Amino acid sequence: MNSHANAAADVVSRAINPMNEVRCFIGLGSNLNEPIQQVRTALTELNSLQGVRLTRHSPLYRSEPVGPAGQPDYINAVAELQTTLHPLALLDALQQVEQKHQRKRIQHWGPRTLDLDLLLYNNETINNERLTVPHPYITKRNFVLRPLADLESDLTLPDGSKLMQHLADCPMGTLQQLPL
Ligand code: AMP
Repeated sequence: MNSHANAAADVVSRAINPMNEVRCFIGLGSNLNEPIQQVRTALTELNSLQGVRLTRHSPLYRSEPVGPAGQPDYINAVAELQTTLHPLALLDALQQVEQKHQRKRIQHWGPRTLDLDLLLYNNETINNERLTVPHPYITKRNFVLRPLADLESDLTLPDGSKLMQHLADCPMGTLQQLPL
């Protein structure tokens, strides 16, 4: 698109979407202190953030921990949001929610009360010292791919690859969907 076409598309998109919201997906995970409740509470808290609307979320899943052995299983889900926040402001907001859950950073990939990851922000690719989007494990982890596919099975990632192809290539291990 040339710059006139870009500007015209921008005007149209602002007219359709006066709040200038963008869609993004958040990965949630917890394996400490009643993890199912941690994830359910976090979904409510995401919806309460200024400049954020929770539009949908996947079912909850139980997954085996990646990293140090002997940890409890994780509870995971993916949330779809509409937001007016810029990516780093959204990351700040996610980290505030994590802090509310008194997340303890004891060990890299160790147990955690709540982990929130910005998986996708619109169709953008972001690489700076605080933020990598798409999140690096989006194509590798069954506990992200499966719930993301529940929400949007025909999703195409910013690099043009298809979510369903990554899902087909990813071992499902013992990933288990919890009853609603
Ligand atoms: P972790 O504790 O493993 O979730 O890592 C948290 C760190 O990852 C934070 O310092 C973030 O700045 C950084 N980070 C980089 N990209 C992302 C992302 N897409 N979502 C969340 N955190 C991210």
